[in-house]
Amino acid sequence: MDQKQTSSLARYLDGEFWEIKDAFRDAISKCELFQSSSYDLTLDQNRDLTAERLYHILRLPFMREHLQNQLKEKQIGFINKSFGITELICSADMATGVKLGVVCGLYGGAVNNLGSPEQKMKWYLPVSELQFTGMFAMTERGHGSNVRGIITEARYDQSTQEFIIHTPSEDAQKMYIGNALKGNYAAVFAQLIINGESQGPHCFIVPIRDLNGVMWPGVTTIDMKHKEGLNGVDNGILIFNNVRIPRENLLGKFGSVSAEGLYSSPVLSKSSRFNAMLAALTPTRLGLTVQAMAAMKRTSSSEGYSGPRLRCCSSVFLTCGFLRVSVHVRLRGWLQGVSEDGIPRVKKIQKERKCLLSIVAGFPFAKQLCTRTHIRGGTKSHGFGTKTRMSAQAPPGVIEKPHSQLSG
Ligand SMILES: Cc1cc2nc3c(=O)[nH]c(=O)nc-3n(C[C@H](O)[C@H](O)[C@H](O)COP(=O)(O)OP(=O)(O)OC[C@H]3O[C@@H](n4cnc5c(N)ncnc54)[C@H](O)[C@@H]3O)c2cc1C
Repeated sequence: MDQKQTSSLARYLDGEFWEIKDAFRDAISKCELFQSSSYDLTLDQNRDLTAERLYHILRLPFMREHLQNQLKEKQIGFINKSFGITELICSADMATGVKLGVVCGLYGGAVNNLGSPEQKMKWYLPVSELQFTGMFAMTERGHGSNVRGIITEARYDQSTQEFIIHTPSEDAQKMYIGNALKGNYAAVFAQLIINGESQGPHCFIVPIRDLNGVMWPGVTTIDMKHKEGLNGVDNGILIFNNVRIPRENLLGKFGSVSAEGLYSSPVLSKSSRFNAMLAALTPTRLGLTVQAMAAMKRTSSSEGYSGPRLRCCSSVFLTCGFLRVSVHVRLRGWLQGVSEDGIPRVKKIQKERKCLLSIVAGFPFAKQLCTRTHIRGGTKSHGFGTKTRMSAQAPPGVIEKPHSQLSG
């Protein structure tokens, strides 16, 4: 395959945003931070490496340009392009992709979709310039899906023109919050309460820690430590004890409160307002499916085709589709050749396939025989039982299954 053919195929597989994907692929493959795996690292080292990788991505000039487009009112193609970038970064390192999703997609999505133009400049422009990072705090211990029923409170105090963010019960603790151990601000979903009356869930920007890591008064974070996976992402619990934030920290696109404590919203019905707010956040939820797709491509591009090192970063250089095509082409070429004994490889493989099929065809009979032997108590006394024979034959490292599972 010559260079021209390779690049046109790669472009075809990358789709509309091949140029930016190529730029990321190039930048990541040249970056030292992405050259080693995180399997042998401690939890803290893993999280630090993920954070460094994220900062590296955010510093890339074309990434910064892309993020600043997020601030524009009309963002043609922005979401699709973001999905392309997400997929590529997730295939290089899933934890970095997820952390990027939390900071720019979830926190950034909340500020940009629920905030006023001034709020976007104040709370998101600095993220695109890497001055601070954010987190998204919607899920509570009691539930994640029932957003309408969140328990965290935001009471308006007219005397100081502040909101008081409070966790009234254990069920209200914000849970599984990504970037909770490192981020500076949180987009917190809470019931907006004015004069004792709830206006439904709204989103507030709450300072968590300053740039030196000093916690904001009344905020507690608890490290959730190891998870089943994605350990490069620092998920934690947030608890608010009467945390005071300025009135301007309510993201006001769908509802705001005047200094006198009057609530106003362009959407009159409480229910429609809630739907409008959640609809604005839909693209970032879709990002999860893109991440899942990247995980599948990553697995299928690494399984069986590469050694441990390549297994962690092969997809940095090639998309799975491209790899699959190239493997397919090579395999076809190999099959067309002849083996060492002069027989065409295709013929040889067909013969082996026939042989394997006849062995497989004999399985039901063998199974029946084993079962009957077992029923007669043959596993031990006959020396013919499956268990005994399996034990004798099992190579080291193979886990033996109890007889009852062998029929599966
Ligand atoms: C690794 C990880 C990172 C995360 N990061 C964040 C984050 O940064 N910020 C954040 O806010 N959240 C985060 N989450 C939380 C995540 O968004 C929630 O797990 C998710 O919203 C589901 O909520 P839940 O786990 O409380 O499940 P529940 O809401 O308790 O739901 C449990 C099950 O019941 C089903 N169910 C719920 N209600 C109904 C109903 N009415 N009818 C039928 N079925 C129903 C659900 O579909 C689900 O299958 C993270 C979670 C994980 C695992």
